[in-house]
Amino acid sequence: MNKKDYDEIFTKLLELFPNPDTELNYQTPFQLLVAVMLSAQTTDRQVNVVTDKLFLKIKEPNDVLKLSEEEFTKQVSSVNYYKMKAKHIRETAKKLVELAENKKAKLTKNEKECLNKYGYYLPESLEWLTKLPWVGEKTAKVILYVRYKHDLIAVDTHVHRVANRLWIVKTNEPLETSKEIEKTVPKKWKRIAHHALILFWRYYCTAKKPKCENCVLKKWCKNPILF
Ligand code: SF4
Repeated sequence: MNKKDYDEIFTKLLELFPNPDTELNYQTPFQLLVAVMLSAQTTDRQVNVVTDKLFLKIKEPNDVLKLSEEEFTKQVSSVNYYKMKAKHIRETAKKLVELAENKKAKLTKNEKECLNKYGYYLPESLEWLTKLPWVGEKTAKVILYVRYKHDLIAVDTHVHRVANRLWIVKTNEPLETSKEIEKTVPKKWKRIAHHALILFWRYYCTAKKPKCENCVLKKWCKNPILF
């Protein structure tokens, strides 16, 4: 795949999705983190149904801690693995409160801005984000990409599958794909790659019934089952 291929692929994806962005609803940085944590093994649509109500009460980490564990768990009970997710979100909320109270911490400009505006901050590094409970590399990259505009490409199983169908990469699992794709996709497309590929998977290149007949990326597809 050369630069011209990438230009064509991402230009076509931009025609399909002119403003590729997350479909998770949120207003505050903490809500973004909670929505991404809830979205593991759960569709964005399901998460939005839960957070529509939840985010009326939960805007910042302290709001979670004001609720009893039982009450908070009940609020998220319609997503998969809700008990574990509720437990980890509560632990993460505690951790973010502790971080905000540490006056000696050296903060980045973005972290300071977040702290000044919201009274807490989401760490602006993979290392620190992945120290939060239930925050793996994929979730951390989504936060860095969406919240702090880092040129990272978070890869879930869907982006992994699409990237391999198009032979942007030839990899065996999502974390490997993420590392490869960040090396190969030109910088100018990194700002849209994550969401554009997710949306393409969600609306066109679905696992069960990909819309191959009218696919604008057919030219690059190397899926031998379908051709
Ligand atoms: S041709 Fe089908 S399988 Fe290939 S990228 Fe398009 S939708 Fe996906």
